[in-house]
Formats: sequence, C-alpha cells, structure tokens
Amino acid sequence: MSELLARHRAVMPSWLALYYETPIEIVSGKGNRVVDADGNTYLDFFAGIVTNMIGYDVAEVRDAVEAQLARGVVHTSTLYLLRGQVELAEKIARLSGIPDAKVFFTNSGTEANETALLLATHARGSDQVLAMRNSYHGRSYGTIAVTGNRGWKNSSLSPLNVHYLHGTDRAHPAFAHLSDAEYVDVCVADLREVLSTTAPDVACLIAEPIQGVGGFAMPPDGLYAAYKEVLDEQGILFVSDEVQTGWGRTGTSFWGIGNHGVTPDMMTFAKGLGNGFAVGGLVARGDLMDALPANGVSTFGGNPVATAAANAVLDYVLDHDLQANAARLGPVVLERLAPLTGLSTVGAVRGRGLMFAVDMVDPASGAPSPTLAAAVLEKTRELGLLVGKGGLHGHTLRMAPPLTLTAEEAEEGAGILVEAVTSVDSTAA
Ligand code: PMP
Repeated sequence: MSELLARHRAVMPSWLALYYETPIEIVSGKGNRVVDADGNTYLDFFAGIVTNMIGYDVAEVRDAVEAQLARGVVHTSTLYLLRGQVELAEKIARLSGIPDAKVFFTNSGTEANETALLLATHARGSDQVLAMRNSYHGRSYGTIAVTGNRGWKNSSLSPLNVHYLHGTDRAHPAFAHLSDAEYVDVCVADLREVLSTTAPDVACLIAEPIQGVGGFAMPPDGLYAAYKEVLDEQGILFVSDEVQTGWGRTGTSFWGIGNHGVTPDMMTFAKGLGNGFAVGGLVARGDLMDALPANGVSTFGGNPVATAAANAVLDYVLDHDLQANAARLGPVVLERLAPLTGLSTVGAVRGRGLMFAVDMVDPASGAPSPTLAAAVLEKTRELGLLVGKGGLHGHTLRMAPPLTLTAEEAEEGAGILVEAVTSVDSTAA
C-alpha cells in the first residue's frame, strides 16, 4: 500500500471509495490527459462529467482565475454585488429557454437539487415528489430522498414523500419486447396510476434526462414530453437535473431535456461548468425563484473565483461550438464500440453525444457482472485510459470524455476500450 493510501485510510471515511486495486494519485493534467504520481499518462474518458468538461490546464480558464485571484478576492459576502455572478446568471438564463428565468448559484449539484426541491415543495405547498427509479441526485437529506439508486442510499430517513416512476428501465426484460411508443404508453399509465394514489398537490417530478450514476440509462426521446402533458394537467412542476447532460454533451441538444422537446420549470447544474472549480446552481422560472420566502440552501455559492472560471468555461463551450464536437465525435466512438455487443460478456453498448456505456454481464447467466466491469476498469488503466463505473449493479462502464475531445483521441480511447473489454472477455468467456 502506498504511503498516501495508508494515510487516506487512516483519516478519511471508509465509505469514500477509491477506484482501482492500486488507487491513482493524479498530479497534473494538460489537454484531455492526466499524469499520475508515478509518471503514467492517461487519456481521460471520465473527466467530462466528474470535473473537467473542457480538459485540463485551459489557458482561458487559468487566465480568468488568476486575474480574479490577483484582485485579492476569493469571496465576499453575497450581501454585496458580484459582477461575475450576474454575468454568468444572464448567460445561463438566456441559454435555459425558461421564460423569465432566474439563477441561484451553489457549490455543488447536491445543493442545487436541494434548492430545487425547496422551491418546488414551497410553491406547491406539498412534500410529495415524483422521482425516477435508479436515479441519483445527491446525498443530502432532500436529495437522497429522491435518489432511487439503492447503492447510494446513505439514509432511509426522508423529509419528502417520494413516489418512484418507471421510465429509465427501458432495457429491463419486462419491457424489452415493447416498441419505444408502447414503452412510453406503459410509463405514462404508471405515472397516472401513481397520481391516482397521491394527494392532488404533488410538488414536482425531478429527473435526469440520461441517468448518470445509474449507468447512462436512456429513456426514449418522447418520454418526458408524454410525462409533462400529464404533469401539466395538475400543475406539477418539472425539474431537470442537468448535472451530467447539460452544456451540449448529448450533441443533439444543449440541455439533455431538450432532446425530449421539453422546457422544464427548473434545471440544475454543477460539476463540469467550473471545470474543476466548485460551482453549481439552479435556473428556474422567475416566479418560482422569487416566491421562496428566504435564501436558498447556502450563502456561500458562486464565489468570484469559481464564477470567473465558469464564465470562461461557458464562453469556451459556446465559442468553440463544443456541442457540435459532441455531435460529430459521439457517433465515431459508438461505431467503434458497437461490435462489442457480439461478445458474450457484453450485455449492451449505448451512447448519445459524448456519453457512452458498456454493460458487462456474466457469459453463462447473462446477469449483470460488477466483477467483469471492475476487471475492464483495471485493464483500461493499464492501457492508459480512465473510464468510470456505474449502473444499478455496478456493472456498467461509463465514458464521458471532455467536450474538447479530438478525432484522434476519440479513436484512441474507443480502441483502448475495445481492447480492454475483448481481453477481459477472452479470459471470462
Ligand atoms: N445530480 C447528478 C445527476 C449527479 O450525477 C450528481 C453527482 N454525481 C449530483 C446531482 C450531485 O452533485 P455533487 O456531487 O456536485 O453534489
């Protein structure tokens, strides 16, 4: 065990899981690659959602952050005007498509979702909330209550009365024989049935357009539009959690929910926007935002350094049309990965824009195999590629490279993944 790992184990919580049998310490990064403490370089196919949406050491972001630091102010009270916050809010409000949108900044996605739940429950005067099975929205009291993914439940105590919906389990054997349209009908019937058992004042539905931690489960495009029609009948609000799907990642739309033709009442975001700096937030209809009687969940969000970074990141995404890059390179990677479905250890391969997933299954039983997924994770590391894991059973490999991915890197990363999965398959099958 490395000296740092031993110290980590001694003073950090045991539930702070680390990837890899021998965890990596990343010490530097440039472009879409990082270097570990042993001098190994990795192409980063996980950075896009976790931290670095536009890669590492981006001059524009560094300059913006350094300029702010040089002014000597990392944060002031939000009781004073903060120019960077206002500018960032204006951009996000405009991009959101939400009428009369207003923006509140937080330090994380969890706080953003907590604020969304606060707004929705307040506006509707109800503690009833709809969420999707297998979802992930954070681990504070409110957000864990709407997190359906059992593997992440850190508490069963709930301040909310939550009802879970189908809709992101398209691949479940029970639904596999249905067409997309039939599946959407089943899900809408499920929603109507749930609503027939609730009081008529359900606050909101909170949903990830593509489930991130849940293994990039992708509902058919029409699903949320069909849900919205039903929700609108009762004035139930729609919150789209865009932490993993925003900023053009899906290629076909700037926001994940745009793929469903839905303009939600609120959207939450975090992570990638700061390219590593802690910033998140909520963009919501102005009337909902303004109706809250007091402040959002924290006084500390959107500090001048983080918003300087976020402004630079967002400008970079727009100036370089990285949504178009996701639309162009996503299909390239997916095409390279597609033949993996022929292997007996691969249950499915799917992707949209720069989000890809490979489900690993036991070759004999076809059951989800977290063990094989872990083996692929180790192998990709050995071959110089960082990828993520997820899914209901921890059997899904998740890839979300930075939006700045180049065509060569797309080929390289997909090639390594194919090699890693094929190698694990040849020993397992
Ligand atoms: N929502 C989604 C969809 C997420 O993937 C995450 C983080 N994995 C969160 C919310 C929580 O964000 P954070 O970790 O920044 O609090």
